[in-house]
Amino acid sequence: MVEELLSAKLELAQRLSDLKARLGNLKRDASQEHSSDSAEQAQERENDEVVDAIGIETRGAIAAVKAALLRIDEGSYGRCVQCGADIAPDRLKVRPEATHCIDCAS
Ligand SMILES: [Zn+2]
Repeated sequence: MVEELLSAKLELAQRLSDLKARLGNLKRDASQEHSSDSAEQAQERENDEVVDAIGIETRGAIAAVKAALLRIDEGSYGRCVQCGADIAPDRLKVRPEATHCIDCAS
């Protein structure tokens, strides 16, 4: 189990840095100069909305990954927060930040 936790921790740390990089790129895109052409401005506003949505999604994912890292430190990682059952290792491999067992998640 210790080894599994260690690899989960590495996986989560990797995801966290990927997500932070993505968020950084989004911020850079969002702060770019807007053109003075009104048709292009409309297009850019649309792009900004997409960027906002991805930003919200990315921040949510970062929060989930951080929470999972915290649970590893607390020793509650891999346990369903709803029913307390162990989350299947296969599920954790696919979604290391999972907080619910397959029964409670479905
Ligand atoms: Zn459960």
